[in-house]
Amino acid sequence: MAFFAYLFFMQDLRAEFPFFVENPGLCYLDSAATSLKPKAVIDALVRYNRAESVNVHRGVYALSQKATETVEAVRAQVVDFTLAQRENTAIFVRGTTEGINLLAHILTSPESELAPFFTSFASPKKPAILLSEAEHHANIVPWQIVARRHGYALFYLPVNKEGELQISKAWLETILATHALRIIALSLQSNVTGIIHDLAPLRALAHEQGSIFIVDAAQAIVHARTELRQLVPDFAVFSGHKIFGSTGVGAVVGAKPVLDACTVYQGGGAMISLVEKEQSQYLEAPARFEAGTLPIGEIYALGAALDFAKKHEQAIVENDAELTAYADECLRRNNIGFFGDNTTRRSAIYSLRLDGIHAHDIGTLLDEQGIAIRAGHHCCQILMRALGVTATARASFSVYNSRDDVDRLVEGLRYVRKIFRKSA
Ligand code: PLP
Repeated sequence: MAFFAYLFFMQDLRAEFPFFVENPGLCYLDSAATSLKPKAVIDALVRYNRAESVNVHRGVYALSQKATETVEAVRAQVVDFTLAQRENTAIFVRGTTEGINLLAHILTSPESELAPFFTSFASPKKPAILLSEAEHHANIVPWQIVARRHGYALFYLPVNKEGELQISKAWLETILATHALRIIALSLQSNVTGIIHDLAPLRALAHEQGSIFIVDAAQAIVHARTELRQLVPDFAVFSGHKIFGSTGVGAVVGAKPVLDACTVYQGGGAMISLVEKEQSQYLEAPARFEAGTLPIGEIYALGAALDFAKKHEQAIVENDAELTAYADECLRRNNIGFFGDNTTRRSAIYSLRLDGIHAHDIGTLLDEQGIAIRAGHHCCQILMRALGVTATARASFSVYNSRDDVDRLVEGLRYVRKIFRKSA
């Protein structure tokens, strides 16, 4: 597309987000925390609550059946959008955090029968879980809980000072000499540096060791869908709100036969086939993992969000590349450092380095200029330690951002630097 045609197209796309009408002039650079919602998503949520506000999987009346069909269609859409392998299904959860808690619980429970699918579960060696220092707390703490409960060892792939994964064969061999690597759970894209990790060698390791390979796709679902699909993980987990959807819903995607061999997570209505006084029988996956009423309106909205993401996939990918190249250049020209500067595969999430200025001061001074970024440890305290900082100021871009937003950020950062030079 010619450059000016591209600009007009992107302006039209931005106009689909009512947020900018409600917050005129705000430069929103916090999409890694949550993305804005296009009108179609808001409409879907409203449509459910206004016109189809009934429960699903229970009612015999037509409207309930219609709502059930919509929910099941979104489930199929989630599988198609993420890992479209024939055996896969999707479990609706509140988001990535709940999805990883669910997997941690069911995959380490002695009641789950996973040895027929993953040979590491038949090994007499001490069971282990492999994570990395780059993980979000959502992909650390649930594993710590179950590791303690079920006697698993936890190992962390180290990262270097830029936040890149360091995969050492010798280090892995030492672990494998004494441990059966049952689970490898890694984020494909860092929410701190925007680095899209090359997980292919770890995918191969999982195949070789008969381990379960899980991808935290909270960020990658928007920025690295192709890589996610190429990896063919056993499970992928994401949150709807990071990909233009509503808060309150996300999904775990994985093979139904494996899930059917797993113990249940939460108990309640809608997940059983028979309840007796002493015990109950459970439905098959995914229903057995969806106790209680689903977030139905949010699922409607997720369907609209995935439609939007698919329809505009090319624009999302191109704008990401365009803004990353432009922001890289502008930041470098202004001597503003950022983590992952030398990494080849990365997309528009920047943890900035302004020496001697605290991340929260950067965030506050930018806010005064109408620029919304995030400052803190970004739920990645282990990564912060590896990077040698306690916090970073993070600017993250999405499809509704443009070069103007990059210019405003850089101007804002120059102003922050000026203020601090004056007060030094
Ligand atoms: N994993 C990564 C890489 C994330 O960036 C996030 C959120 O920022 C999460 C997990 C947790 O997502 P949620 O808070 O939607 O459950």
